Parts: sequence; structure tokens; C-alpha cells
Amino acid sequence: MMIMIIVLKPHVSEEDVKKVVNLAKNFGFDVNLSRGAEKTIVGIIGENVYERRENFEALDCVEEIIAVLKPFKLVSREFHPDDTIIDIDGVKIGGKHFEFFAGPCAVESMEQMDEEASFLSSLGVKILRGGAFKPRTSPYSFRGLGLEGLKILRKVGDKYGMKIISEMMSVDDFDIFEEYVDIIQIGARNMQNFRLLEKLGSSSKPIFLKRGFMSTIEEWLLAAEYLFHHGNEKVILCERGIRTFEKYTRNTLDMSAVPLVKILSHLPIVVDLSHSTGRRDLIPSLAKAVVAVGANGAMIEVHPNPEKALSDGQQSLNFAEFEETYKNSMKILKALEVTA
Ligand code: PEP
Ligand code: MN
Repeated sequence: MMIMIIVLKPHVSEEDVKKVVNLAKNFGFDVNLSRGAEKTIVGIIGENVYERRENFEALDCVEEIIAVLKPFKLVSREFHPDDTIIDIDGVKIGGKHFEFFAGPCAVESMEQMDEEASFLSSLGVKILRGGAFKPRTSPYSFRGLGLEGLKILRKVGDKYGMKIISEMMSVDDFDIFEEYVDIIQIGARNMQNFRLLEKLGSSSKPIFLKRGFMSTIEEWLLAAEYLFHHGNEKVILCERGIRTFEKYTRNTLDMSAVPLVKILSHLPIVVDLSHSTGRRDLIPSLAKAVVAVGANGAMIEVHPNPEKALSDGQQSLNFAEFEETYKNSMKILKALEVTA
């Protein structure tokens, strides 16, 4: 499968756009239209698209034709020169926006989540995280409250006016995630679960796609390409550390992924500081770096009492620690003129 990118001249008419689209369809190609602030770009997808290059060059409204040689196409910067900004009822992710994704590793009870949401929303955090279906290495560890957990999240999210994000592990849970959450997380372990990606192509929700801990950036962008290819263009990437020989940290945070992904792709990118480090003592310093490097958000696990957390307490900040981290980040964001 190939993709040819046709950049149209500025201010082309609707009729011209239709002409290009119809020509592509007559040749039996698929079309993906992308309208940026300045440019309209038509992606022509199919076998041997380049054999038809001259037919498109002959059209007056065509400014340039670009070959995308990278394996990922629709998520590439060539295809969509402007940053993608995902708008969830006014909460914007991407471009010059920064958001915190904060909350516990797992939803444990209504009381815990009410306390969390009350505190986080009072600071100004707009997105609440919490696992209900937990991927745990051992089957004997706490694996989450399931549907009950999603219901608790939804309830406190609505009560405190926060958007909620939770991880979906199986296509069997598609309907309940569509019903309850605002953002669906795909965890590191499922980044290449292609049936899950295909299914989420038909989701109406933005997908928060974590990088697999043994995945290259190219594999990660190809996983995002699956979502696009199957119809969902609301994708947020999340760097959450990769496995290396280093043992002092749970994973190795690949900070270079942030500017690199921004060169390669138009998608927003967030950094998860809890799972990448596995250590709460590193999070406050690294949060400053995440803001400065130009990420679109930080995910941080926060717990009212990390010592008593049912999972990942060692990498969760308590409320006082999070408040300080949040306030420091705000200062840097302000200096960089990023909207938070
Ligand atoms: C999580 O965010 O709850 C989680 C399990 O993260 P990851 O998939 O990155 O390990
Ligand atoms: Mn966790």
C-alpha cells in the first residue's frame, strides 16, 4: 500500500477539492482529506498510486505532490503539517497546550476517588486517571474493580467537572468504555494488540496510546497508524519508558521521544512520569523537564496515601508533593507561553 500526498494551492475552491477526490476515486484509490489552517492536503491511498502522478500534476489546483516514504503515512508530519489538537469539550490536547493526567494507579473506592478528584480539581487539573481493569504481572495482585471502577470514575468526574481516562484491555469491554470514559487508554502491554487497535478505530473516543516498553518509535507510530487506518484520528501518544539494562529505575525514560515524535508526526505527545521512573523521588525534577521539552502533558500517579495504595504506591506522589510539582510546572509553562 502506498500513499501519495497532494498539496493543493492556497484558497482552492470546494469544487477543485472535489475534482481531485473524484479523480482519485475513479482510479479506485482511497482518499483521506486533511484541511489545515493554510493548506488542504489530499492523501491518495492505494497500490501503484505513483503511476497516476502525472494525472494529478495536470490539475491546476495542485501545488505539489509528495511521496511519503516512511512506513507510517496518515500520522506523519508530511501528511498533516499542522499539529493535531484534540478537543474534549474544551479541554485541548496538542499544539501549544499542556494538560496533567493525574490520579491513582487504580480506582480503589468511592471515598479514595472523591478525595482525589476534589483535591486535583481544586488545583486546576482537568483530567483524572484511574485503572479499573489493571494489567498486573502477577495474577495474585490487585487487578482493579472492573466496571464498578469505571462507574466510580464517571461519578466523581461528573461531580468535579473532570474528564476521565482509564485503560481498556479487551475488545469485550468496548461498549462499557464507550459509555463511561472520556479517553480510552491502551497500555504499554497492548500497544501492538492489533485486534484491539482495529476495534478502537471505530471508537468515538480519543485513544491514549502508550509506547510499548520494548517498542521502537517507528513501531509505536505504526500502532497509531492502525487507529487512523481504521477510522479513529483522535490519538494521543504517551511515552512511558522503555526497558533497558538500567535497574535503578523501573524503565528508562526516553525524553528524546518527545521532540522526535514532533518532527515525525502531528500527534500530541504526553509523558508518563510514574511508570517510566517507578520512583516518586524522581518525579518532581523530571516534571520540569517534561514541560520544558515541549510535551503536551504529563501523566502522574497521585494517591491520598501512597503507602497504602493497592498498586504502584512507590511511584505515586502524595497530595503535597503533587501540588508542588504542579505549581512548578505552571511557572515553566507560563514562561514558555504554553496554555495550561
Ligand atoms: C497505567 O498507566 O496504569 C499502566 C499500567 O501503564 P503502562 O501500560 O504504561 O505500564
Ligand atoms: Mn500504575
